[in-house]
Amino acid sequence: MDIVDTDTRSQMMAGISYKDTRPELLVRRALHKRGFRFKLHDKELAGKPDLVFPKYQCVIFVQGCFWHVHDCHLFKWPKTREQFWHEKLGKNQLRDARNLSELKRSGWRTALVWECALRGISPEKKTHVIDQLNAWIINGGEFLSIEGNDLANADDMDTDSYDVDIFG
Ligand SMILES: [Zn+2]
Repeated sequence: MDIVDTDTRSQMMAGISYKDTRPELLVRRALHKRGFRFKLHDKELAGKPDLVFPKYQCVIFVQGCFWHVHDCHLFKWPKTREQFWHEKLGKNQLRDARNLSELKRSGWRTALVWECALRGISPEKKTHVIDQLNAWIINGGEFLSIEGNDLANADDMDTDSYDVDIFG
């Protein structure tokens, strides 16, 4: 039953956010390699966006599907301490919504990259996600959300994938 590796589990149990976990690092490294320069976790901005591109007036959040209650295969409501989790994750959702509207009000464009767009996904599809971000940073609209629902069942899962059934 316990198919999540120990690090992942202790991280989740400790309530640590997804800061610096692999999907975010992947995005950072890939965009840096393409020549983009950005600030990390800027406390001056609502929600401390993971990547901030002052030159392009845009920010990127790499969102963990569990902590941000994404409607995808990586999210399941925990079956223990249900009330605790509903309150905790409900607060996260409210905070996310507030942060997004505050960023918009202050003139920032925002992109969300969901964990499921990057976890368990082939290198080609990861490159496609980075391509989308690259184009959006330079010349995109006010808001972009990249998620993996249509990619999740790809049969070319790479080896760092795990089937998240953390609380199942
Ligand atoms: Zn997701």
